[in-house]
This record gives sequence, C-alpha cells and structure tokens, in this order.
Amino acid sequence: MLKGKAALVTGSTSGIGLGIARAFAAQGANIILNGFGDAAQIEALRSALASEMKVEVSYSSADMRNPAAIEEMISGAVARFGAVDVLVNNAGIQHVAPVDEFPIDKWDAIIGINLSSSFHTIRAALPAMKAKKWGRIINIASAHALVASPFKSAYVAAKHGVAGLTKAVALEVAEQGITVNAICPGYVLTPLVQNQIPDTARARGITEAEVVKNVLLAAQPTKQFVTVEQVAALAVFLTGDAAASITGAVMPIDGGWTAH
Ligand code: NAD
Repeated sequence: MLKGKAALVTGSTSGIGLGIARAFAAQGANIILNGFGDAAQIEALRSALASEMKVEVSYSSADMRNPAAIEEMISGAVARFGAVDVLVNNAGIQHVAPVDEFPIDKWDAIIGINLSSSFHTIRAALPAMKAKKWGRIINIASAHALVASPFKSAYVAAKHGVAGLTKAVALEVAEQGITVNAICPGYVLTPLVQNQIPDTARARGITEAEVVKNVLLAAQPTKQFVTVEQVAALAVFLTGDAAASITGAVMPIDGGWTAH
C-alpha cells in the first residue's frame, strides 16, 4: 500500500514509534528512523528492518528539541526520497510531578519534544508534500490531548496543543491532498509508561502495583493496555485511500477512557 513512499517517524527507536515504522515498512514504505539509544543497537535495528522488509531504511539522530537539527533531518530525507510522504510526529517524553514542584527544565523539554517539534517537522515537510499534492501527517497525541490527569501539567498542555495544531494544519492543507490527524492512545505498556510508574507511586504515596491497577488501568474501562500493534494498524489505515476524507480528526484508541 505504501510502496515507493517515504515515511519518517520521530522517536522510532522504541515503543509506539518503532511499531509504526515496522508496520509502514511491512506495507513497502522506505523508512527514516529517528530517536535516541545505543548507536550499535540502532544500526542493528535499521539493517534488520531493511533486509526483513526489503525497503530502504535510514536513520537520523536529530534531537527533537533542536529546530536546526529537525530542519536538517527533513531536508536530508527530501533529498534522498523526494519527499517525506508520511510524517509521524511521535517522539515524546513524560515527567510526573505536582505543578508547583514541576522542574522548569522538564516543562521546557516536554513542550519542546512533545509539541514544538511537530511544528518544526510539519513546516519543513509540507512544501514537498504540496508539490506532490499528496501527504499524510499523523501526530501521536494521547488521551491526554482530550482529558487531563493530575501531576502531568506539561504533558497534558503539550498534548492538548498537538490536538490544536492538528486541526489548524488540517484546515490549511485540506484542498491539497494532504491529511492531518492525531491518534490519541490510552495507556500502552512501553518504556515511557514503565518509567513513570515509580514517580507516580511517589507523587501519590502508593505502591507501583497500585499505580498499574488503580491509576493506569483504572482509567481504561477495558482494563487492558492498548497494544503498539493496534496503534500502528490505525496509523497504517490513516495513510490509505479509504482514509482520504479523514482529516483534522483527533482519534481516541484508549479502551473507552475518554468516553467517561
Ligand atoms: P518510548 O519512550 O518507548 O519512545 C519514545 C521515543 O522518543 C524513543 O525512540 C526516544 O528515543 C524518542 N525521543 C525521546 N526524546 C527525544 C528527542 N529529544 N529527540 C528525538 N527522539 C526522542 O515512548 P512511547 O510510549 O512509545 O511514546 C511514543 C509517543 O506516544 C509519545 O509521544 C507519547 O506521548 C505517546 N503516547 C504514549 C502512550 C503510552 O501509554 N505509552 C500513550 C499515549 C501517547
């Protein structure tokens, strides 16, 4: 379905981003990976994905806090593949603390990585999409783009911002064959969630097991974590012709969380 297209997924060395990159590669897309991690492991991941799926896979180490590095990542991808046909803004971090104790550097990092990086990738990728009159922009937001939780002020603010950015850009490019949507997962058991369990336990004064049962899955009526594969399948669907009329949508995939 994506044969001959190039897909760039920010934060694709782990978790949801990696799952989406794999799913796109399985559809025949050439992939630009991005994210942090051990260089040898990333290279092993890159070459395994390329040989397994028989697609081209490149890697950019661009830091999503750095607008110049983002511009270079996109222009490099456009030079190599002609365009970033599918852009997935997925890189994200979390920090859990009461707002009056929230470290300023964490606030700035979360807004930078989880929100502003999407502005920088979108502005750099759009001209080539417009020239081809085709493009798909998928922003990985969160159920926290729609509802809030305490102690996650920066994350909730950034993700609500992503929802607004999604709608505004969707309207701007609606007549140009480009769709812009946000996927809003509930809890997916990735390193991002695993790492916040101890901080949430500390902030709420409860055990880590209680965090999983009473905080994370308490919000999710299905009482199941959403899987990486389910999120990736939705992303694949949004790239297809059947989804050409879906734009500006902020779509929950959250086991019913935001139906509350
Ligand atoms: P993860 O920690 O497994 O992966 C995050 C990725 O982002 C990694 O590849 C990491 O290297 C990369 N990254 C972090 N900082 C970066 C930076 N400055 N520059 C470039 N890359 C950077 O997390 P995940 O759970 O897969 O999260 C992916 C996205 O999904 C995030 O935007 C997150 O907010 C969102 N999300 C996750 C969940 C969940 O429950 N896991 C739920 C809703 C939304």
